[in-house]
Formats: sequence, structure tokens, C-alpha cells
Amino acid sequence: MGDLSELFAPRRVAVVGATEREGSVGRAIVENLMEDFDGEVVPVNPKYDEVFGLPAVADVSESDADLAVVVVPPHIAVDAVRQAGEAGIQNVVVITAGFGETGSDGAAREQELTEVAAEYDLNLVGPNSLGIMSTPNGMNATFGPENASPGNMSFMSQSGAFITAVLDWANDEGIGFKDVVSLGNKAVLDESDFVDAWGADGETDVVIGYLEGIEEGRKFIDTAREVTQDTPIVLVKSGRTDAGAQAASSHTGTIAGSDQAYEAGLEQAGVIRAESVQELFDSAQMLANQPLPEGEEIAIITNAGGPGVMSTDAVGDSSLSMASFSDETLEEFSEKLPAEGNIYNPVDIVGDADNDRFRDALDIALADENVGMALVLTCPTAVLDYEQLAEDTVELREEHDKPVAACFMGGERVKPAATILQDSGIPNYFDPSRAVFALDALADFKDISQRTYDEPTEFDVDRERAREILESVKGRDDTRLGVEAMGLLDAYGIETPQGEIVDSPADALDVAENIDGGVVMKIVSPDILHKSDIGGVKVGVEDGEVYDAYEDLITRARNYQPDANIIGVQVQEMVDLDSGVETIVGMNRDPQFGPLLMFGLGGIFVEVMEDTTFRVAPVSENEAFEMTEEIDSAPLLRGARGRDPVDIDEITETIQRLSQLVTDFPAILELDINPLVALPDGAQAVDVRLTVDPDEL
Ligand code: ADP
Ligand code: MG
Repeated sequence: MGDLSELFAPRRVAVVGATEREGSVGRAIVENLMEDFDGEVVPVNPKYDEVFGLPAVADVSESDADLAVVVVPPHIAVDAVRQAGEAGIQNVVVITAGFGETGSDGAAREQELTEVAAEYDLNLVGPNSLGIMSTPNGMNATFGPENASPGNMSFMSQSGAFITAVLDWANDEGIGFKDVVSLGNKAVLDESDFVDAWGADGETDVVIGYLEGIEEGRKFIDTAREVTQDTPIVLVKSGRTDAGAQAASSHTGTIAGSDQAYEAGLEQAGVIRAESVQELFDSAQMLANQPLPEGEEIAIITNAGGPGVMSTDAVGDSSLSMASFSDETLEEFSEKLPAEGNIYNPVDIVGDADNDRFRDALDIALADENVGMALVLTCPTAVLDYEQLAEDTVELREEHDKPVAACFMGGERVKPAATILQDSGIPNYFDPSRAVFALDALADFKDISQRTYDEPTEFDVDRERAREILESVKGRDDTRLGVEAMGLLDAYGIETPQGEIVDSPADALDVAENIDGGVVMKIVSPDILHKSDIGGVKVGVEDGEVYDAYEDLITRARNYQPDANIIGVQVQEMVDLDSGVETIVGMNRDPQFGPLLMFGLGGIFVEVMEDTTFRVAPVSENEAFEMTEEIDSAPLLRGARGRDPVDIDEITETIQRLSQLVTDFPAILELDINPLVALPDGAQAVDVRLTVDPDEL
């Protein structure tokens, strides 16, 4: 899509459907535009010669505008957009509702709108949008009650109502914006386009957003990771539905809901995810106004013991750490601070601290190389002038060029000081944990901006063999495959134990005799998803027991489901579980993000433990490796309690190879390798289960 600068900075705006009619959207937009807009406003309405004194034209083609805002009823809105396109107007905001959000007629209308936009290559916002704002030129092309104040954050929202609420509040708080966009139904321009545009506009320092969904997940990841090399993105994503879990037959499918996909996708995109509106603005404001920290060590300066402890706890919950001061710093503290205080972090300058002592302590702390950022934490006392302290804090923050958050606790008494702080980009919080959270976001973004994104490794694989195995489901009622598809893993270089599927006890014995030691025997049937649940897996079977084991497996399967389609019995080499760890590597296809990889602690209790982590495929080596570090049981893989560590490199490679397989074959809807037994040397996939969509082959 590229350049959206004209959308936000038009010379002339045509309002298609402009009117003076009381209470109408057409009136509100004209009034809002007339308020501050630097450019010209052209009402379009064949019924009027003028609207609020502005000369009106009958048709948008006569407007000579470079942005058309469309508010006419739905049945003529698409025509209005077409006329705008024909007249060479590249930018269109469709306020009109009654499209995709209202059933099949609306959906057809939206489809038509999308086609018209494609035909004329329009930058189209909406439909069903509150409109857009851009403060550098005072443009308020919305029908909301509140205009944004100027600032360096740009804000997009899938809810128009939320925008009006945020602006009302932000104007009170002194929080400003560069652009504001109500995304509406996102028929053409979506979150990726705005992230892209704001990353390049030179005026947006932070992108913030409220999203209900991201339609094209991969596009978003790829766009956002470019932008977040320089410009932070903070998003609230609502809606934790589990659509993905419906009708899943794999463990991965059951565990991987859409929220896991968003969690993984946003993380891979370098987006900072806020869990609430408060977190959104706490972190965004800090990112918009303060420098990034050199280090993640925080100094806390306080005149109150209790809150000092609270904030230390909050640091413990964050990714920050408490700074340990240099010897010189400690010496200076001892000189300047009373003996009953604490010169170690959190620095307690004691309740009788005056402004000079506070200033000295903050100055000394910020000068220390071991300090990356500071929190000024204070409770009101008779000897302390809050406004003076605010001014000192602002001055020292600038002098040392390190981020500082403020926690001047109190109510009415704090307000003038809080205003001084806020005006200089230092948000003041009552609650120390919010201040720590906001500083944490800065440290987070520092890491994100320094990330390098590697390309996924391309392994040499046997794609044709894999395709043949997948094609075996064609023409079958059942599109699930089990251990009969082990060859699929082999074709992609994933280690599997020696084994074969047989359909008689005699053949079973033949195979078993060719394998050293005992074997594992498993029932093979598309109707039996979880083999051990029905006693369908026998471990450590000796040659002499093979016949009985075979008959027993078949009987169990028949008892479980008399008409089960039994392919036979798999006879497999034993893997040494005692020295290994059972892990799971799986994939489930998410409607928005595509193939979602899962890694976790495996075996038959995987759904009970749910110790798992996710990434959107394809993944790089580094992303695959991170997965092995992220699960709670990661220490188990790295050799807990005197056990040998397992082969992490091999797990990492298996994840990458599976990533390549599911990226190569969109026909694979879900897949589990459970367990992948990770051993001190290598890893073995002993079980596989997948569902295939034959139409995609
Ligand atoms: P299912 O998941 O359908 O119950 P699996 O093939 O995963 O069937 O077997 C269940 C469990 O049996 C595994 O989690 C593992 O503990 C054990 N097992 C299966 N195959 C082997 C093998 N080749 N060597 C050692 N243990 C095995
Ligand atoms: Mg299994």
C-alpha cells in the first residue's frame, strides 16, 4: 500500500453527504472539519447550494478534493466511492455503516466496495468507521465529540466508540496524538498498512492500537518487525475466543486457541502487548517521551520505607533488576544521607528528607554507570515541596539523559507537581507497580529494537515422498493419519525409530526378531486417536510375547469399537525413555496467522500439564531455539537433578524441519509428534498424528 501521507494531509476534503440536518453524521463531520482544519472543506450534496456557508457541489467529481469522506446511505455509498475513484481522488474514508457487519447483503456490498477500491487503487478507510484525525494540520474528519490534541503517538482502533472515550480522557490527561484512525471493517486498509505508514512518517514516535482481530497475521508480523526496529508498537488485543480448539483431533489443536496465535504472532512481530487500557497508555507514554535505557538496572530513591519495599517487589515481577551501586556512589550517599537511612537500593533518604537531600540522592544515583533508570518515590511530608521536587526531577532526567518514572503518592496535594512532571514527559503514578511496568516497557523495547531476524533455514528434504504419503488420504472418508505416516517425518529428516506396520502375528515376529532387544507394539487405526487410552501400546515386548501381544491389541481395538478400521499393528524399536524426556512438537493452523507451531512437555499427559509455547511458522533457528527455553520445564531438558542434559540442538532442528514441512504443505491442517523423545544424543519421533485437507493437495 505504501504512502498514506496524502490521506492524513489532504489539501481539500470533500464530505459526500454533507448536511446541516440536526443530529446527522454529515453535519458532525462538516462541523468538526471546519473547526481547525488547515485545508479546504467541500460539501457534496445535490440538494444544497451551500452547507454552513461553504459552497456545495452536486457530485464528488466536481470537488477537486484529494480526500473524500463518505457518509451517504449504504445503497449509494459504493457509487460515491466509484465516482471519487473516477475523479482521481485517491483517498477515501467510508463512514457509512451497513456493510460486512450486517449480514449477507452487507457482505456483498463490502465485496463490491473492495473491488472498486482495487480498481482505482484507493487508500480506503472503513467502511463503518468513525473517521480519521491528523493533528499537524488540525484535520478532524470524524463524527466524534472530541478532537485530539497534538502529540507524537498515532492511534488506531477497531472500535470507534473506544476512540471517543480515549480522546475524552486523554485530553484531560494532557496526552496528544499525531494521527487517529477508526479502522472500521478494514475492507481495504488494515492495521498492517497503518503500522507501515506510521513507521515511515517521521512524526509518529509510538504506534498504539486497540484490535479485535488481525486478518492477515503473517503480513502483520513481517510489517511490524521492520517498524519496531525504530518505532515501538503497543497493542491491546481483545477477545480470547477459542475458535481454533473446535473440532481439533490433535493435542496441539486442543491446546492452541486463537489467543496463543496472537500471543506468538505479536511477540514475533516485536509488538508490546498490553493487557489493559491502563497498561497501553502507561507504556506508550513512557515510550513516547523518554530515552531508551542503557541498562535494565533501576535505582529507587524514596523517603518512605513501605512503598520502597512495594516497588522492589514490582521490580522482582518485571524483567528489570535492582541496580547495585558503585563504591563511589555508596561513598557519596554516606556523605549526603543520614545514618539511619539506607544507601543501598532502594535508597531510603528518610521521612525528614528536604528537597536538597532528594535532589542530591537522585543526582548521585543517576550519575552511576550501573544505573540505567530511576524511580522517584515519595510520600508527602511537611518538609518537602512537591512542585520543587517535580522541577528537580525533570531537570535531572534531562541532564543525565536516563529514563525516570515518578511516584509522587497522594491526592489533591500532588496535582500541581504531577502536571509539571507530565508536561515534561514524566508520567506520575500513585501505584509504584505501574511506574515499574512503564519503565519495563522501555527496557523491553530496547531489546526489541536490537533484534535481528534471521531467515528460516532451508533443509534438504524429500518433498515428493512427503506428497505421496499425504495423498494417501485422497478418496478416503477419513483424512486423519497416524503412525502409518511415519515416513512423512523421515522424508523431512526427522529421526524416527526403526519400525514397520504388519497385519499378522507371524509378520510381527519377523520384524521383532530383526530388532535388538524388546519392541513396542501399537495398534494402527484411524479410528483410535489416542492408542494408550485403550491399552493399544505395549512397551518392552519380548520375541516370545509377540503373538499374544498382537492378538491382544486387535481384541482391545475390536472391543473399543467393533467396526473400527484396523490397519494392523506397528512393531517399533524401543527408545530409552529413562535417559530421555518426552516432548511434543506440533502444529495447528490458525485462521489468521496460519501454521502455529507448538513445543512442550510431551507424553500421554500433555493436555494435563499444558506446559507449552507457540510460534507462527516458518521459524528461524533462533526462534525454534527460544521455544526450548520458554517452557516451564526447560530446566528438565538442560539436565536437572544429576541427569544428563538432552540434545537441545536436535530438538531445535526438529522444530525447524516441522516448520518447513507445514509451510510446504498447507494441506496439513494439524499435526502432533508426541512424543518426540529428546535424548542426550539425538531425538526420536516415536508417534505421529495428523489431519490432511485433500483439497489443498
Ligand atoms: P498414543 O499417544 O496414541 O497413546 P504413543 O505411540 O505416543 O501412542 O505411545 C504412548 C506412550 O508409550 C509414549 O508416550 C511413550 O511413553 C511410550 N512409547 C511409545 N513408543 C515408544 C517407543 N518406541 N519406545 C519407548 N516408549 C514408547
Ligand atoms: Mg502419542
